[in-house]
Amino acid sequence: MFRGVGRRLALFNALVVIVIIALTGVVTYLLLLHQLSAEVDHALKASAEQTVNDVRATQPSATTTSTNSSDDEHKHEHDDDEILDSGDTIVFAVDAGGQIIYNPRGISVHGIPNAASLQRALDGEDDIRSLNLSGIGAVRVASLPIEQNHQVVGAVQVLRSLHERDAELATVRWMTLLGVALGVAIAVPAGLLLARRAMRPIDAAFARQRAFVADASHELRTPLTLIRANAEIARQEPAEPVDSIDPELASIIDEVDRTDRLIDDLLTLARSDAGRLELLPVLLDLVLLAQEVYDAMLPLARQLGVDLRFEATPSCMALVDTDRMRQVMRILVDNAVKYSPSGSDVLLSVTCDDARVRIEVRDTGSGIPPEHLPHLFERFYRVDQARSRAAGGTGLGLSIARALVEAQGGTITLTSVVNQGTTVTISLPKPAKIAR
Ligand code: ADP
Repeated sequence: MFRGVGRRLALFNALVVIVIIALTGVVTYLLLLHQLSAEVDHALKASAEQTVNDVRATQPSATTTSTNSSDDEHKHEHDDDEILDSGDTIVFAVDAGGQIIYNPRGISVHGIPNAASLQRALDGEDDIRSLNLSGIGAVRVASLPIEQNHQVVGAVQVLRSLHERDAELATVRWMTLLGVALGVAIAVPAGLLLARRAMRPIDAAFARQRAFVADASHELRTPLTLIRANAEIARQEPAEPVDSIDPELASIIDEVDRTDRLIDDLLTLARSDAGRLELLPVLLDLVLLAQEVYDAMLPLARQLGVDLRFEATPSCMALVDTDRMRQVMRILVDNAVKYSPSGSDVLLSVTCDDARVRIEVRDTGSGIPPEHLPHLFERFYRVDQARSRAAGGTGLGLSIARALVEAQGGTITLTSVVNQGTTVTISLPKPAKIAR
């Protein structure tokens, strides 16, 4: 039921993780691109300005450095790639006519210096641009005019390879891709695993709820079937005096009462599930309440041949809802009396110390086999279905008792040994003011 939801949630989470990684990568990439480009431009400009000064200072001697020397041309022709790759800057200067007058490294490569950029400098403008030179790759080119007496007498061009910058950017690109790939490889399965884990208790709770509804429907249908059957019998003999159909009418009344109890119990549990159990806590002497329950249950115990006794310390105060506590005690005493054979003893006792009140219902009845013990507080769980029903049980008593005790801050435990008996213990906190 929730598996599809879990899977969608996991995939959505994974997608968010992947988008975050990708966005981080793209932002890092753009920041780095901006930073590295600014660094290159800054270095190029500084170098160009320096060259302008150098050329001015060395003229006219610098102008004698010729690129037309066949020796130089030969010398550098084969390692131009290397020079450009190294991240170094290459500088040129040209005179006003565009003739190279300064080429300290004697570089001779087709396409550099870049004529268009130089022309702008010769026109008096600073120029900076990126170029893609065949066989060399991306380069950044800056050209500055050389001015003397407000006249452009030449231009300087500085070039720098962008290989280094591009290599760093490529690393970031790869890292981003790797991050996204890792995101896919890790976030998706991890998300699915976590979603499956997270969904497990929800699945279980939903399954419990479904079972509860199914059990409740079944439990409600049983008395209705009996009521209907009895009503049918009564209807078949309309002329008969009411006396003659008294057993059927009595059975109908029994089943209606039973249905009423069941609906009450279901309502209590539904309210408890919804956290809407209305409790009216009052400061109450639980000894007096237990005495009242004992008195009320004595006739049933006598009728079933069970020796019901009551023991208590003089007074045990606690902050509880009177009706709900009475209901809990009745459930426990009723169970002890119902499920103990004639001749058994049942002891209801109330004791307390400084911090807690302890209510115990101990019987010497049939006991409960150990394999059933973990399930006793489950809704509609009965050790012996037929016996419980015959005894008027709905299978909800202990689960209601637990819900009510826990809602009042207490705990309830059950221990049982087959053929020796069962003990149910409730422990309730005393309110701080009266704890002494
Ligand atoms: P029910 O309405 O059937 O009594 P409960 O939730 O009160 O439902 O109890 C669950 C089951 O636990 C009962 O059906 C019964 O089999 C068993 N049980 C409860 N209390 C006792 C007891 N004191 N002695 C033996 N069995 C008991």
